[in-house]
Amino acid sequence: MAVVPRVDDHLFYRDLRRPLREIVRGEGVYLYDTEGRRYLDGCAGSLAANIGHGNRRVAEVLRRQAERVAFTHLSRFTNGPAIELADWIAERAPGDLSRVYFVSGGSEATETALKLARQYFVDRDGPETPRWKVIARRSSYHGNTLGALSMTGHRARRSPYEPLLNAFPHAAPAYCYRCPFGLEPSSCRLRCATDVEETLLREGPETVAAVIAEPVVGAAAGALVPPDGYWQRLREICDRYGVLLIADEVMTGFGRTGRLFAVEHWNVVPDLLVLAKGMSAGYTPIGAVVAREPVWATLRDRSGRFVHGHTYGANPLSCAASLEVQRILEEEGLVERAEAMGRVLLGLLRERLGSHPLVGDVRGLGLMVGVELVADRVTREPFPSSWGVASRAGLAAERRGLVVYPGSGAHEGRGDHVLIGPPFIIDATQVEELADLLEESLNDLAGELAGRNPH
Ligand code: PMP
Repeated sequence: MAVVPRVDDHLFYRDLRRPLREIVRGEGVYLYDTEGRRYLDGCAGSLAANIGHGNRRVAEVLRRQAERVAFTHLSRFTNGPAIELADWIAERAPGDLSRVYFVSGGSEATETALKLARQYFVDRDGPETPRWKVIARRSSYHGNTLGALSMTGHRARRSPYEPLLNAFPHAAPAYCYRCPFGLEPSSCRLRCATDVEETLLREGPETVAAVIAEPVVGAAAGALVPPDGYWQRLREICDRYGVLLIADEVMTGFGRTGRLFAVEHWNVVPDLLVLAKGMSAGYTPIGAVVAREPVWATLRDRSGRFVHGHTYGANPLSCAASLEVQRILEEEGLVERAEAMGRVLLGLLRERLGSHPLVGDVRGLGLMVGVELVADRVTREPFPSSWGVASRAGLAAERRGLVVYPGSGAHEGRGDHVLIGPPFIIDATQVEELADLLEESLNDLAGELAGRNPH
């Protein structure tokens, strides 16, 4: 039954000129709006709603926990769900990543990792330590708060705030479709990893606290999968110069790429593992930083406290929801399913879109697939940023009843992209439906753009 849409006169969203549709219900991989229209959630919101919408088990756990106790403050008390969730994560995280610090989302988590890296060196070497820089990469996204944005290598998101940002250096991305060095993966000898080392040397390794990277780049550039060996090289470089390696798995963590943590594809143990999104699959705001034992032990043995904290960190409600989500993920074999369905999805999208006039590249790992849109498939020239092709693609999909996660790129010489990352519970028929809808949406978009000249 259609519900009367409300007027959102007082909500302040990102897009100030376009009213948004109101979603009233979610079930599995589908969302329903006030007019009863159904959308296939092809991007799990922002690659967060990994177990799908409307899960009764999570709803029931939330209700029970809210009745028992919804809030305790971590400066004074701990609580059962936080203890159990920390145990659960520590048992499954790679290597000796075993100390879990809870926050409320991805940006809080990357900020926390940044501060933890700094405090580690202050505690270890004394307050005069010159180690404060974090080396990140261009075409990356680590969040929108100021520390996180300082690490983020995305010009458009940074530019209004430049005076507020820290001057962190940015190395080249691992971006094979547009290799910054004009090389081929088969013979490049991981030139982009060498660039991280060169950046470190240029800055002076004694001033660097950490290197941060997304195992597979998500929002900034649409599922950039690094070449094999890249993450092992990052680990070697960080070890060589005594710098912490931070894996930002806010998007990739908890199964998105077909492994519980994406660094497991390359058997690398980072010093800090940053998590959010799939942690609660969107049911409650939560994030975490998982530290290796020696990092945590340094703080314990030296200053004895982490000079940090947020009101909602480790709150029982979010932790209880997250724990239930993790149980569901494991009991229902959803990580394996993400891997299997991801393979089907990538194959299908390559088949359908491989020679589409707007599509330059289809890439991904697990259920995280990026489709890069270009004005010219041969030269790989992006559309002009003034055309807003990414957001047009998002709207074209929405009109067809498909939700995708678009991102613009022309401001830094990349193509615009759409990121596809449905809930892991998607089945083969729904993957087919997703591919059909995306192909139709891009055909619509091609029609919309026909006759316009990018020059
Ligand atoms: N890091 C990565 C890799 C992300 O994908 C995101 C969110 N897209 C963030 C950090 C920021 O997370 P949040 O939006 O929860 O603040």
